[in-house]
Amino acid sequence: MSASFAASETSPRAADAISGPSPAVMGTYARQNLVFERGEGAWLITKSGERYLDAASGVAVNVLGHAHPRLVAALTEQAGKLWHTSNLYRVEGQERLAERLVAATFAEKVFFCNSGAEACEAAIKAARRYQFAGGNPQRWRTITFTGSFHGRTLATIAAGGNPRYLEGFGPAMDGFDQVPFGDLAAVERAIGPETAAIMIEPVQGEGGINVATSEFLQGLRALADANGLLLILDEVQCGMGRSGRLFSYELAGIKPDLVAVAKGIGGGFPMGALLATETAARGLVPGTHGSTFGGNPLAMSVGCAVLDAVLEPGFLEAVRQKTLHIKQSLAAVKDAHPGLVLEVRGQGLLTGIKVTVAPGEVVKAALEEKLLVVGASDNVVRILPPLNITDEEIAEITQRLSRALDRVAAPAT
Ligand SMILES: *Cc1c(COP(=O)(O)O)cnc(C)c1O
Repeated sequence: MSASFAASETSPRAADAISGPSPAVMGTYARQNLVFERGEGAWLITKSGERYLDAASGVAVNVLGHAHPRLVAALTEQAGKLWHTSNLYRVEGQERLAERLVAATFAEKVFFCNSGAEACEAAIKAARRYQFAGGNPQRWRTITFTGSFHGRTLATIAAGGNPRYLEGFGPAMDGFDQVPFGDLAAVERAIGPETAAIMIEPVQGEGGINVATSEFLQGLRALADANGLLLILDEVQCGMGRSGRLFSYELAGIKPDLVAVAKGIGGGFPMGALLATETAARGLVPGTHGSTFGGNPLAMSVGCAVLDAVLEPGFLEAVRQKTLHIKQSLAAVKDAHPGLVLEVRGQGLLTGIKVTVAPGEVVKAALEEKLLVVGASDNVVRILPPLNITDEEIAEITQRLSRALDRVAAPAT
């Protein structure tokens, strides 16, 4: 037994004494040296009682903030009844949530999984099986876009095409053809006899809050229709109310074939879903796809409670109001920091500022101001508050961000 293990057994406060992260946890993340003990709405609180304003939301996950009473109640009520039965049997919560999602969206069918990568993988598999079931097994490739992020499985890193995520993992899985984001002519050129689908994030999150125009998404829809392809939207980050609509595709006025959902759908409980039209789901017959934990009763009870809250009259309208507020405030922050903030980007409460320094510097300075924000590619700092953030808290976010930028702007020596 190692000394540190013995210490943790004898002293429950031992974790407080650890100055850095435990080496027992695999080093796949460059974490901040910060441990939170509990949360209240948009606030995260450390063991010593320091309060951080959360404009990260666990990367667009905690749509209703932390420890929302309705979600706590839904989870604890279900926890006393039933956790898991597997998909060998009907799961009542799955049927309830699927029907609610079908009623609220383009979808006619829903598959439940546990994460965004799994939802994207399911979408890619659904598109291939759709073509297979239609007598076109030679159509199996998916067109994707530069700057995209679809997860960390072997298929989704190949789909995302980010060289940093592909390096050292052998040849990228075949089946993805990447074209520049926003370039409709390039999409058209990339379509071949083997193409099955086009997959895109309506707003790229990790890629730096790049918003696809409605015209572009409409163009993709038209190209997919003209060529017998499925249009897959990855709304893992921009979906579940973050855009100010339940899903971002509503803003473009298009009807997708498949939509990958995760992050916000569980409000912090791990879950994902694939939304599909009946036609797009035609290939996924019994035995073709599955997930042990997907759609388990705990996730479903929380998922229903999240959807109830987001679809409550006035909720999305309020998100749109808050969007205007945060946009104006961030524009003022930009004006106050010329040469440091180049641009304010976003859709709904999926917002970002493009900065002239490494985003990590701003994230670090924001921590000094007890504000949590998230870096992204393309020199962008993401501001992703819970969707039920108050106007006072938005003002507080922008004040703290402004002070953080003052710190960054100050000469290092
Ligand atoms: C986070 C994210 C994913 C991956 O989700 P995981 O739950 O981490 O697997 C996929 N697509 C988008 C757009 C994301 O933001």
